[in-house]
Amino acid sequence: MDTLVGIFPSNFLKPFVDANMLQIIVASLIIGFALLVIEKRREVEYTLVEVLNDVFMKAMEMIVKLSPIGVFCLICPVVAENGPAVLGSLAKVLLIAYLAYILHAVVVYSLSVRVAARMSPLRFFKEMLPAMMFAFSSASSVGTLPINMECTEKLGADKDVSSFVLPLGATINMDGTAIYQGVCAIFIASCYGISLSFPQMLTIVLTATLASIGTAGVPGAGMVMLAMVLQSVGLPVEGIALVAGIDRIFDMGRTTVNITGDASCAVIVSAMERRKQAKREAARQSA
Ligand code: ASP
Repeated sequence: MDTLVGIFPSNFLKPFVDANMLQIIVASLIIGFALLVIEKRREVEYTLVEVLNDVFMKAMEMIVKLSPIGVFCLICPVVAENGPAVLGSLAKVLLIAYLAYILHAVVVYSLSVRVAARMSPLRFFKEMLPAMMFAFSSASSVGTLPINMECTEKLGADKDVSSFVLPLGATINMDGTAIYQGVCAIFIASCYGISLSFPQMLTIVLTATLASIGTAGVPGAGMVMLAMVLQSVGLPVEGIALVAGIDRIFDMGRTTVNITGDASCAVIVSAMERRKQAKREAARQSA
């Protein structure tokens, strides 16, 4: 309930100050609809919005170009403080998480682009490679937005669709984060010797899905929301410390899955819209 109520801003400036993407999207929707319905629509309003959009996209692009160096600097102290052994002891849980990421991407995304967008999954993943690599190194869905938009446009997604679906997806559609939270909750439970019942596992699935919706598309946000998942089944929140040391490595994979899911949605919605349009055209011609 809090997540639902929380998407509505109490004023139009606060979401921008707090960088609350979900509220920014709601505020933008309201402003967008208002622009559409005001009587004296002037070109200048649209041009202003577009110029501002281009300026911010460019600024973001310049900043995120430096991100691979930043990522390297972030991983160094983790290995230096805990020794390479920290990576070894957690290798199994990492492996499981990565297997789940890959399985999800290959099965769910391949099938959905094949069935709903009638596109070859090979082509989809090939064109998505630059965005996936960027997401992997930056661990930020929001930071990957400009590249993701380019890739989906190359895949034939309409700009109108991708510029709505991708920012929304970067904020609320996080399959990779939900997978990570599920895997880590089970791992933490087994570390504490707690065996989970089936209803508890179902609760983890539900809360991980909700927590992933509330997770911001920035590095490390999923780990913060993991606390909510652990609390929902009475697991000790301190357990997060067990995976915190290598969260960056989990994050790289889950962000890659997150942005690929957003792109598949954009491609699918575009294809469905085109089919609808074609049907309408055909009906109009036959009438
Ligand atoms: N880093 C992820 C993303 O940007 C969010 C998370 O930490 O799970 O998609």
